[in-house]
Amino acid sequence: MVYLWYYKIKGDGIVKLPKNLEKYVDEIIDERGEDNGYWVYLKYGFKVDYSASNHIIHEDTAKECIDYLRAVEPCDCKECTDYLKGERK
Ligand SMILES: [Zn+2]
Repeated sequence: MVYLWYYKIKGDGIVKLPKNLEKYVDEIIDERGEDNGYWVYLKYGFKVDYSASNHIIHEDTAKECIDYLRAVEPCDCKECTDYLKGERK
């Protein structure tokens, strides 16, 4: 079993994230209360092959989010590149 830690999120909930996936995540919004699942925002420079946006994961359960997080890869799209360039200034 993978060791899990607790990642604080906005709102009233917490989600367990494997520690090695922490580096990909900017923010997690918990909208389970509105029946709207989790929104996982990736940090700039990372993407996942995903339907609506390559930079946001939206799934009903933490487990599904984590499955997608395991498939995260580096991203060099214009948005990420511009942001990371700006950060270095
Ligand atoms: Zn990108």
